[in-house]
Amino acid sequence: MSAQTARETMPFQTEVKQLLKLMIHSLYSNKEIFLRELVSNASDAADKLRFEALTDGALYEGDSNLRIRVTFDKDKRTITISDNGIGMSRNEVIENIGTIAKSGTQQFLASLTGDQKKDSKLIGQFGVGFYSAFIVADKITLITRRAGVGAEHGVRWESAGEGEFTLETVEKTNRGTDVVLHLREGEDDFLDGFRLRHIIRKYSDHISIPVLMPQEGEKAEGDETVNRASALWARSKKDIKDEEYNEFYKHIGHDWEDPLLHVHNQVEGNYAYTTLFYVPKHAPFDLWDRERRHGVKLYVRRVFIMDDAEQLLPSYLRFVKGVVDSDDLPLNVSREILQHNKVIDAIRGASVKRILGALEDLAKNDAEKYQVFWDQFGKVMKEGPGEDAANREQIAKLLRFASTHTDDATQTVSLADYVSRMKEGQDKIYYVTAETFTAAKNSPHLEIFRKKGVEVLLLSDRVDEWLSSHLTEFDGKSLQAVTKGELNLGGLEDEKEKAEQQKAAESSKDFLVRIKEALGDDKVQDVRATHRLTTSPACLVVNDYDMSTHLQRLLKEVGQSAPGTKPILEVNPTHPLVTRFREEQDSERFKDWAQLLFEQALLSEGGHLEDPASFVGRLNKLLVELSR
Ligand code: ADP
Ligand code: MG
Repeated sequence: MSAQTARETMPFQTEVKQLLKLMIHSLYSNKEIFLRELVSNASDAADKLRFEALTDGALYEGDSNLRIRVTFDKDKRTITISDNGIGMSRNEVIENIGTIAKSGTQQFLASLTGDQKKDSKLIGQFGVGFYSAFIVADKITLITRRAGVGAEHGVRWESAGEGEFTLETVEKTNRGTDVVLHLREGEDDFLDGFRLRHIIRKYSDHISIPVLMPQEGEKAEGDETVNRASALWARSKKDIKDEEYNEFYKHIGHDWEDPLLHVHNQVEGNYAYTTLFYVPKHAPFDLWDRERRHGVKLYVRRVFIMDDAEQLLPSYLRFVKGVVDSDDLPLNVSREILQHNKVIDAIRGASVKRILGALEDLAKNDAEKYQVFWDQFGKVMKEGPGEDAANREQIAKLLRFASTHTDDATQTVSLADYVSRMKEGQDKIYYVTAETFTAAKNSPHLEIFRKKGVEVLLLSDRVDEWLSSHLTEFDGKSLQAVTKGELNLGGLEDEKEKAEQQKAAESSKDFLVRIKEALGDDKVQDVRATHRLTTSPACLVVNDYDMSTHLQRLLKEVGQSAPGTKPILEVNPTHPLVTRFREEQDSERFKDWAQLLFEQALLSEGGHLEDPASFVGRLNKLLVELSR
């Protein structure tokens, strides 16, 4: 006997054990979905075989009638799900069933709290899959053979789901996979043809290949097909019930919750194709993982071609799951061909418009659901205006922000809402960017806007800097960072105010020059008076065309070079601290004052002091002097 055929016991990866425990706990009230998951895997295995057989017909081994078969044995108390799909090699079994190959799993598990209730919700982000069968089975035997290899290459995997599994090489004449569930005590309800048929119709009706069960009753002979066994998306829209759409989603989305919405289009024109897209209810745990798989499957005339066809949708719609089925592409289409293909370009262009349109409708008709969408995927959508200039306006309508109107961290304000609340004489949409919502909300730059009752959007997602550099206008109004450029409130100020500001600035001239000299050239490019502050003594701004200090910090954090643009220190000439400091005659102390003014402006921006200890020293020195 070679080492290959020897019986071998191997431990599950730690992550598998953890997930198994959680899953059994969270799914206990919904056990029957194990069948959906196993049928879903069998269907995926059939798709994979069909795809590989496009280039290697021998894989069919003379039998291209793909099907799934479900049987049960009352005496042995087993349920068996068999398929004649692609099957697995020994290594594939270890990789796919003994470990969780999905990237980001470890971080995901590290984010679990240990509180089973909360974690049960989180695990919904992960998808259920094969292990769900352990909810009803205390032992699972999986016997599989990969298509195209000899019968002696079969593998038998067995586990009680408790830390380890055994592997053994066995003979298997027919290709594909049999999963045998040895039911737990008390689960005998499932050993019932009527019940199993019901579950299959409920969850797996949309599976496009037949799911067979042996006929029962007096005249029983052979198998019958339990499901409808036709491609759901190819059926007429009006004949498809919402539940059917939802179950199909769970299969292709590897999700266990209903989606938020679906968009189904059957197009006949220059090109004939069908698209069925879904927006999930929650973000997957690996939404930010660069290597993450995309969620759109490509079919050509009903034949599965590939998963994760990332060319079918832009990256900012990477949360969308679904199916594209084209009549015009060749069956042997490859990823390379997809990159420069006019059929794909046409489908992609129209698909993006349809998805954005569906989101727009959702926002209009069901604000609550739209908020769910935004909370989950808003950060991704904000990549849109930068990535997809052609649809910028449509995407802009979908954006939601926090703002001083609500002062709440939840992003609920649309640009249209903002525009409808603009003050008489206001011609710009104002926003502030900061590291956190609280920092944005309390930014000194907002003081004058709050005083005048002018709304400011509060941006604190990382992607917001990228967004604001690409979205410069909405509805004919330009977007203006309140931290950039000289404050020009245009029509929001009257002549009297302007004259007063002018006067204050004039009379501060010498004082401002002294501050600039005290600070030296390497800290600021200029010092000027401002009226944007009411309660703060000073703040930092940059020129309109300069990169914001916040973005400079973000870039430095990720190790990129940022142009070391120096900020402008703006001083509030009417602030009591400033009026006191203005009188300072001692040049050493004046220097300390100037430094402090700069440093506190930097701090209130969320910036980092180069030398915090000296700052504290200066502050204490002045406090001691003042309290004398
Ligand atoms: P998912 O389906 O989301 O990938 P599962 O836990 O359901 O996760 O399945 C894990 C992996 O095991 C699958 O991706 C597949 O590679 C493999 N697998 C499971 N069932 C089968 C099967 N019947 N035939 C071939 N491979 C299978
Ligand atoms: Mg699965």
